[in-house]
Amino acid sequence: MSQRIVILGCGESGVGAAMLAKQKGFEVFVSDGGKIADHFKQELVQAGIDFEEGMHTSSLILNAHEVIKSPGIPEKNEWVQALRKNNISIINEIEFASRYTQAKLICITGTNGKTTTTSLTYHLLKKAGLNVAVAGNIGISMCRMVATGNYDYFVLEISSFQLDDMYQFKADIAILCNITPDHLDRYEYNLSNYISSKFRISSNQQANNLFIYCADDQLTVENLERRKGDAQLVPFSLIQKNVPGAWISDAQLFVQLNENQSNQFTMYTSELVLKGRHNAYNSMAAATVAHALHIRKDIIREGLTDFQNVEHRLEFVATVRGVDFINDSKATNVNSAWYALESMDKPTIWVVGGVDKGNDYDMLKDLVKEKVRMIVCLGLDNTRIHEAFGKDVDMIINTSSAQEAVHVAAKLSKPGETVLLSPACASFDLFKNYEDRGRQFKAAVKSL
Ligand code: ADP
Repeated sequence: MSQRIVILGCGESGVGAAMLAKQKGFEVFVSDGGKIADHFKQELVQAGIDFEEGMHTSSLILNAHEVIKSPGIPEKNEWVQALRKNNISIINEIEFASRYTQAKLICITGTNGKTTTTSLTYHLLKKAGLNVAVAGNIGISMCRMVATGNYDYFVLEISSFQLDDMYQFKADIAILCNITPDHLDRYEYNLSNYISSKFRISSNQQANNLFIYCADDQLTVENLERRKGDAQLVPFSLIQKNVPGAWISDAQLFVQLNENQSNQFTMYTSELVLKGRHNAYNSMAAATVAHALHIRKDIIREGLTDFQNVEHRLEFVATVRGVDFINDSKATNVNSAWYALESMDKPTIWVVGGVDKGNDYDMLKDLVKEKVRMIVCLGLDNTRIHEAFGKDVDMIINTSSAQEAVHVAAKLSKPGETVLLSPACASFDLFKNYEDRGRQFKAAVKSL
């Protein structure tokens, strides 16, 4: 009798997992407590996979040999608890997919910068002609890619929620971008749990693997001893030179992985297409991977110059009557908004607000005083933004739609200024998600 795999949660990761499990000969059942999107249902029907939606049936779930759980379902969920009680193994789709590929895995986690670093790394490998796929938290299931293709390399964006359900998985190259407090509601409001979760990216690593991390990130450095495995450490830094490592000095980016200096990678930072300090980190991390894989230096240089940034991350939208509009809707926490503000080189009208996740705005105060002339709040309840910055800027105005925010910002801005949407908050008070917020912002700018 074939083993039964139950999939909890039917989004992209669930459907991908179902497809791969089916292909590998398992008996597969998909269960989603909410509604399953029509296109996913069609895929399941076509593949002959049984499913239920709007409910979970105990007798169909607790008979699983193994469960593949969507990262959106928290540990405290009653079904997760019931499975634990029954000693049924719970993994996620990346752990499952990694059992069925020999590809080298480049795995990227961190609080901020995952998607950018993942996309940039993928771009460099692809440009070099490697047989590479990108997957994971970036929105494409790894299982789907394993089921439908045969790749030599995977570049994987992995969230801490995903890492929590990974055990045997091993990253040939791991990148930990940074760690700042986020999602603490899922970690019993215990930062230490969240930090441990991030360090799981290095689980099972061996001496011939690389662990690439930010030497300027306090929480990472303080907790390096939590690293699991023996991988070689490769720090990147804007402040210090380390070999092996990546660093920036005299307006040049360097990567050197052994004592042989003649094999050093260098390029001028002015040529990097991704601007801002945070992106200098992301560029160093991606360049380190490419250099470690012996990609030609001119290809790495070209890739770091012609990469097209991912939507909603410091994305330039348009210049209207001398005012630049930038969409950084993905900045859903204070730390990412800090980097966005930090990279502003013109007086800024800052569009901020949404669902406040218990933000501590103190770390933004100096930057706001230095760079922001006016604040446009975009959220239902903006009290905390008024309290935090009321004394630091000329004016704070409340708005409750992207269109209104853009109109107010356009009206009150002067040529030579920048309007920056970098909300530091989640979006679901007024929008479906951060993509919706970013698109509405861009549409409003384009119709000015
Ligand atoms: P993630 O996938 O981890 O959420 P993204 O690459 O989508 O990260 O970027 C999310 C937000 O964080 C964007 O607003 C971006 O400007 C900012 N950001 C990107 N890279 C970094 C970094 N290395 N450190 C801090 N903030 C960053």
